[in-house]
Amino acid sequence: MSHSPVPLGTFPTPVEPAPRLAAALGLEPGDLWIKRDDLTGLGGGGNKIRKLEWTVGAALAEGADTLVTTGAPQSNHARLTAAAGARLGLDVVLVLRGAPGASRSGNLALDGLFGARLAWAGEVDRAGLDAAAAEVCARLRAGGARPALIPFGGSGVLGAQGYVRCGEELDEQVPQLRTVVVALGSGGTMAGLVAALGAGSVLGVDVGALTDPAAAVVEFAAPLATQEVTAKGLRVRRDQVGAGYATLTGPAAQALRLAARTEGLVLDPVYTGRALAGLHAAVQDGDIRPGEKTVFVHTGGLPGLFGHADAIAFAEEGAGTFGG
Ligand SMILES: *Cc1c(COP(=O)(O)O)cnc(C)c1O
Repeated sequence: MSHSPVPLGTFPTPVEPAPRLAAALGLEPGDLWIKRDDLTGLGGGGNKIRKLEWTVGAALAEGADTLVTTGAPQSNHARLTAAAGARLGLDVVLVLRGAPGASRSGNLALDGLFGARLAWAGEVDRAGLDAAAAEVCARLRAGGARPALIPFGGSGVLGAQGYVRCGEELDEQVPQLRTVVVALGSGGTMAGLVAALGAGSVLGVDVGALTDPAAAVVEFAAPLATQEVTAKGLRVRRDQVGAGYATLTGPAAQALRLAARTEGLVLDPVYTGRALAGLHAAVQDGDIRPGEKTVFVHTGGLPGLFGHADAIAFAEEGAGTFGG
């Protein structure tokens, strides 16, 4: 790649043991490690920072003065794009699915704090969202601005390079690593890990953001990998999507509670909750076995918990009453 990344995050992120969570999942206490990519620093942190270092680096090299990107209303990627723009003195326009007014909590509150402008695209599909973003870019250009369009989720061959670096960190931090478990949304995160560690070492838990997530991972990973990457060779679970991307599934809710109560670790309802539920299912069906070193990548998303009414209701239900 011709561009170089712009430093935005705090790296390497730590890896921490999770013995009580391991035992609760049916593993041996020493088997499970958490890669704390929720602690990447800027803007509340999360996996999107590693990708933004590359995509925003390219935007700067092209002379952009405005970042434009797309997402769901509670997009962590949109929030962190807003934070990156603030850090670098760039304007930011977020093209979001849906309509204003429904909720301004969670990530949306932070988008506003970082000074991003919002463009609501209505209830559109991915193509409709991309079309709305193209229109926003055209209008910015007509007004004399120099917009750079950051792809959905920050994912592409360029952004995935951020996760090649994460894979290299893991290689050093966790010798004899057998499986890295990660949420699979727009695909760039899993793609970079696959390129760095090999397809057999990465288990992606699909959250339902794409119709063909494996195809996206292959597209982004193949140009970065030294070995051939095929859809067939990927380890992808699609059993945690439930009723769809933004819904709180039963297994994800239980995973949130389990991580919180065994390790004091907060997951999010859309990505990391599903990913841990997928890890649990993988232990139950023998895809991940006790005695093997497993890393769970915590990709962030905490603000999304506070933007998710069902997740908050579930969390509050768990509070016991002391005394009488
Ligand atoms: C976006 C996101 C993911 C998924 O990463 P992709 O690169 O889009 O697949 C996982 N976890 C969180 C918290 C995210 O915001």
